[in-house]
Amino acid sequence: MEFESVIGLEVHVQIKTRTKIFCGCPTTFGGEPNSQICPVCAGYPGVLPVLNRKVVRELARTALALKARVNSHSIFARKQYFYPDLPKNYQISQYELPLAEKGELSFTLDGQTRTIGIHRIHLEEDAGKLLHAVGNKALNHTLVDLNRTGVPLMEIVSEPDLRTPEEASEYLSTLRTRLRYLDVSDCNMEEGTMRCDANVSIRPRGQTSLGTKAEIKNMNSFKAVRDALSHEIRRQEQAVQAGERIVQETRLWDAARGVTISMRSKEEAHDYRYFPEPDLVPIHLDAAALEDLRKTIPEMPEQKRARYADQWGLSAYDVNVLTENPSLSGYYEETLTSSWPSEQQAEAAKPVANWVTTDLLGRLNAEHIDPADSPLTPARLGELVMLIQDGVISGKIAKTVFDEMWTTGRAAKDIVQAKGLVQVTDEGAIARWADEVISANEKAAREYREGNERAIGALVGAVLKKSAGKANPQLVNKILREKLSSKPS
Ligand SMILES: [Zn+2]
Repeated sequence: MEFESVIGLEVHVQIKTRTKIFCGCPTTFGGEPNSQICPVCAGYPGVLPVLNRKVVRELARTALALKARVNSHSIFARKQYFYPDLPKNYQISQYELPLAEKGELSFTLDGQTRTIGIHRIHLEEDAGKLLHAVGNKALNHTLVDLNRTGVPLMEIVSEPDLRTPEEASEYLSTLRTRLRYLDVSDCNMEEGTMRCDANVSIRPRGQTSLGTKAEIKNMNSFKAVRDALSHEIRRQEQAVQAGERIVQETRLWDAARGVTISMRSKEEAHDYRYFPEPDLVPIHLDAAALEDLRKTIPEMPEQKRARYADQWGLSAYDVNVLTENPSLSGYYEETLTSSWPSEQQAEAAKPVANWVTTDLLGRLNAEHIDPADSPLTPARLGELVMLIQDGVISGKIAKTVFDEMWTTGRAAKDIVQAKGLVQVTDEGAIARWADEVISANEKAAREYREGNERAIGALVGAVLKKSAGKANPQLVNKILREKLSSKPS
């Protein structure tokens, strides 16, 4: 029997705010345990939550960017469950009347464009964190840190429109890029500012009704999402083929063992006894407020990609790499626009893209630096590319200059001057090196004269070596060819 898998993702994203969703406690990461709490987020009786205005704005902006409908009237609900990281014994979330519904997100995978429905986007508060002091005899118990309690989250729930682990991963990465463009979240899966749970089921190909789903949790990277989904789909197929019935349950991804393991039978919504939160007033967003928010939405990745291709003639590859992170595209555009007048930008666009997507990005990734914090500024990189364009240094020497600029922060011109790296375009000097190289490499010279075009490569390389990489390669090539054709042996 041939199966089709059906995947829906529930993505929790921490909304970038200075303070928590219902109190003034800071949201900064990494504080001493329980140093960022107050009676409200610690769940004392008798306290009243006050909604942080910014979370509503950020969710509405996200909804607009995901073509979702923002409801003018929306309410909070209490989701009741007992767990030691939840001091109130209920989580303030949204159930009926979420802030936004019915959006969509498109991406292209293997040349095919897929549009995935977004079921709903709602606000909720995060819970605390349990620290299990397992194996420590002095601390043989579990500790609770409430710093995260009340940190604002938005939950973006997709329709079950995804069909493969690769699609799920691509959806997630497209969503992350978009949220980063909106600057609503850092979306860092490793640090937990973006978390993803998946609902997975299988059905015989051609069947339209849904199979019984399992919810997969504890996937902490894009790779984990792909691996966990692949494993879970295989597990369900094998179970069905063995005549077993799939049960609705929550399963945990165990990355070390590469398997999903059953955690608990999956709750139904009614298990949570949702009811409207009586301590918070409904959220009202009128059309004018929404219109104002729409104006704050920046250029989105797909618009930027079209503009880069159109305005600067960049390849699809360059455009994709440059626009994945708004910080990198910002760096690229600043390099180009701060160094070249608009009529010369098209010519510089490709060489600048090459430097940004290879040398610069390689360094930034290796040292875990955001492009916005690059020690090598856009203006400095622009100067380097100009030196190559003007023929002052060769592309090869530029690599050395780049390394030096990265570590010292000095200007390209200063490095080139101080180290005597100016490209040699003196034809007399190149001709002398060429003569020396031809007499020292008789075999290659003879082969070239006998018609082996490729033999010139070794000779060009030898001349460049003699010049310590500073000779202009085009000139070397030209002079060698002249010499080898005018003086047959
Ligand atoms: Zn608080």
